Amino acid sequence: MTTTPLERKMLGNAGDPDAPTTTIDVSEDVARPMQAVPKSLLLARAEQAALAAFIAVPLVCVLVGAFVAWGGFLSWRDVVISTVFYAITGHGITVGFHRYFTHGSFKAGRGVRVALAVAGSMAVEGPVTRWVADHRRHHAYSDKEGDPHSPWRYGENFPALCKGLWHAHIGWLFDVEQTDQKRFTPDLLADPDVARVNRLFPLWVTLSLGLPPVLGALLALATGHDVSTGAVTAFFWASLVRMAVLHHATWAINSICHTFGERPFKTRDKSSNVWPLAFLSMGESWHNLHHADPTAARHGVDRWQFDSSAELIRGLEKLGLATDVRWPSRERLDARRVSV
Ligand SMILES: [Zn+2]
Ligand SMILES: [Zn+2]
Repeated sequence: MTTTPLERKMLGNAGDPDAPTTTIDVSEDVARPMQAVPKSLLLARAEQAALAAFIAVPLVCVLVGAFVAWGGFLSWRDVVISTVFYAITGHGITVGFHRYFTHGSFKAGRGVRVALAVAGSMAVEGPVTRWVADHRRHHAYSDKEGDPHSPWRYGENFPALCKGLWHAHIGWLFDVEQTDQKRFTPDLLADPDVARVNRLFPLWVTLSLGLPPVLGALLALATGHDVSTGAVTAFFWASLVRMAVLHHATWAINSICHTFGERPFKTRDKSSNVWPLAFLSMGESWHNLHHADPTAARHGVDRWQFDSSAELIRGLEKLGLATDVRWPSRERLDARRVSV
């Protein structure tokens, strides 16, 4: 498949020897492979325990809260609305903002392009051009100076890594210095549809927070339950909790998936595959493969690797709504595997 210069600009091809040369500046220094960090067994065990805690504790809290509230402050209506909104806004990020707008993993018509931009905006992770600019910069400088959210920013010892994990997860969002969108997203800035969706960002936030209580009230009315309770509980679970869980699932890719986990593919950064996050992240936690082959439409490339984002792209392809999908080939994958 040939690519135009504009498309080449869209491809985060870090660590990808066959990919076309990006027009984004990457210094010589950045292109050096990462040195492996010697690790004792004890440290490895501590890392695994920390990883399990990071993933499990917030989830257990949500589940305990749900159990306590079930039948009172939480009903099946809230579960259904939360799941639907999580799936729509989450795939808006993974399929839309990430695989389509950032990396050009497939081509789509105007309707799908706008729908993906709106769905991703409703995740409330910032407007599409800002999200894409940050993420393209991440690929250009992954785990080196210039990466907006590397957990290795402060060093590799334990206190530095703790500080780095916080920075990669949440702290970087508060950086005063913003990614230069003119440099990283000229293609999106030139698109009037994307500009319109960007300008209307406050509307998408309002709809994201406001639609669940409306649906909760309507469902309560239809099933003979108290309408105001239906609205309030749907707002709590399907607006607030749903948005918070998705935020952490996205941020965990930047923090956990650059620190812990397995690295079966060759990359020049510390990206890793973290299987416990696959479901909540909709396939994005196969992040080591993603950095090894950034334009691939599927990140969970091995057997049993859950990747609902790739399945959605396959569905769009079958409907003729996604074309030129960059499915990973066996030879490409084998060339990128770490030899054992
Ligand atoms: Zn990454
Ligand atoms: Zn990416």
